[in-house]
Amino acid sequence: MSDVLQNEKALVVFSGGQDSTTCLFYAKAHFKEVELVTFEYGQRHAQEIEVAKHIAQEQGLKHHVLDMSLLSQLSPNALTSHDMPIDASDDIPNTFVPARNLLFLSFAGALAYQINAKHIITGVCETDFSGYPDCRDAFIKSMNVTMSLAMDRDFVIHTPLMWLNKKETWALSDSLGALEYVRTKTLTCYNGVVAEGCGECPACHLRQQGLNAYLNEKGAMKS
Ligand SMILES: [Zn+2]
Repeated sequence: MSDVLQNEKALVVFSGGQDSTTCLFYAKAHFKEVELVTFEYGQRHAQEIEVAKHIAQEQGLKHHVLDMSLLSQLSPNALTSHDMPIDASDDIPNTFVPARNLLFLSFAGALAYQINAKHIITGVCETDFSGYPDCRDAFIKSMNVTMSLAMDRDFVIHTPLMWLNKKETWALSDSLGALEYVRTKTLTCYNGVVAEGCGECPACHLRQQGLNAYLNEKGAMKS
């Protein structure tokens, strides 16, 4: 990344989870000024918002929380309807809100315009998860063009995790000096348990597998 960016401002799409917290540290490493945006849309755990607020405060970053509760009108599914179980057996998990990322990025763009941030950073990833079409690289590139045209600004959307698997995402946070922070402060678990999580849900399994793989590899390199 060029030094030019050191003088510019970035807005991080931030949920308080492992991925977006890694993006937060990525942004702090590369940009002069960083702000965060979190979308509140009737998450299964209101605690998600609290975790995000806490991290923003600890990191001393300006934090915008936008109310996106209208999303719950669009999708009666596991993330937003509290009485439905999570079923990750389908190709697209039933936590899916159609075009959620499209909507989030549009609002992030409008906010970035207002706060004069050229760069938008999002932790979307095509590699070992997803099934979300609006998290794919082709969509992000298209969205970058659309947003820039819509607001007549040269936005740059950064997706530092796009081609990383979970193991490599842990490696990135380690290279940013944030492994322990991400490990102990973030919330990925569907059951709302911070750090290592409940250990039972699909999100916990994915997170723990990646962490084990990374720590094993790191240990093997040392010995
Ligand atoms: Zn869990």
